[in-house]
Amino acid sequence: MKTTMRAMILDRPAAALRLAELPVPTLQPNTLLIKVEACGVCRTDLHLVDGELPDPLLPIIPGHEIVGRVSAIGSAVKGFRSGQRVGVPWLGWTCGTCSYCARDQENLCDQARFTGYQIHGGYAEYTLADARYCFPLPEAGDAAELAPLLCAGLIGYRALRLAGDAKRVGLYGFGAAAHIIAQVLKFQGREFHAFTRPGDFASQDFAARLGADWAGSSEQEPPEKLDAALIFAPAGALVPVALGHLAKGGSVVCAGIHMSDIPAFPYHLLWGERQIRSVANLTRRDGEEFLALVPQVPIRTEVRRFTLAQANEALLQLRRGEFQGAAVLVMGS
Ligand SMILES: [Zn+2]
Ligand SMILES: [Zn+2]
Repeated sequence: MKTTMRAMILDRPAAALRLAELPVPTLQPNTLLIKVEACGVCRTDLHLVDGELPDPLLPIIPGHEIVGRVSAIGSAVKGFRSGQRVGVPWLGWTCGTCSYCARDQENLCDQARFTGYQIHGGYAEYTLADARYCFPLPEAGDAAELAPLLCAGLIGYRALRLAGDAKRVGLYGFGAAAHIIAQVLKFQGREFHAFTRPGDFASQDFAARLGADWAGSSEQEPPEKLDAALIFAPAGALVPVALGHLAKGGSVVCAGIHMSDIPAFPYHLLWGERQIRSVANLTRRDGEEFLALVPQVPIRTEVRRFTLAQANEALLQLRRGEFQGAAVLVMGS
């Protein structure tokens, strides 16, 4: 086995990622050493690079949508075999004993650590992950197309779950998460309405191809009031806009880890038992439920592939919204 690996490293906020040759990490009792096949590029990685997230481990290898093969298994690990395909999500470690962990809210654990943020992630040829937070993945299929399921899919699924049984759902920001959740909504016989940046006709066309009941810009009114609004774009100004699109009793769910400030708005937008809430991270149960749903739909992701060394270019294109679906780094390419 190789003793060194290539990785992209963030040394400090606002710096470009740096390609480095590093030692392959050393196996620990609870971990899997994973040979990375592909790693998705998530908007959270942009917030990390921009210094918008508190207390990152620096320098850090980003990346929390990891698909790879088990290369070595820690002495205390059960239930995985060598060569098995696994996924590593954002939630990397929890304490297991705090009040949140005790009541099925490990996503809120006070001491939680996150992949590609406080634990080195998947912008690398190898990564080390606590096996208790890894998911078995299908052996067949393209690794790059599985990668966006590990965060865009999972967080989108949790956001949808928190929206309850809403029949008519608005998706604000039609990127990686929305294009996955749109497929879940159609599978479940629900409607989705896609809202994009004004003038982003490519994303509106993309939404229409996925069966949108309506697609337009966030400055337009949907034809009917919505039962729920899921906001994936990091723009706080969308919160009062989405509230204005909601029917009474509806929810606005903010799915991103960071958002620009929410402007003041008149109380009547919230009146009528409308709600605003956020989604933070994921639980392992979210992952198990969502990954079981994937083959039933079946969910197909649209990806733009980059090499590991092109990570900065992938982040730039994500920032500019230059592609549909999700960006993914493919190793060994
Ligand atoms: Zn905890
Ligand atoms: Zn993410």
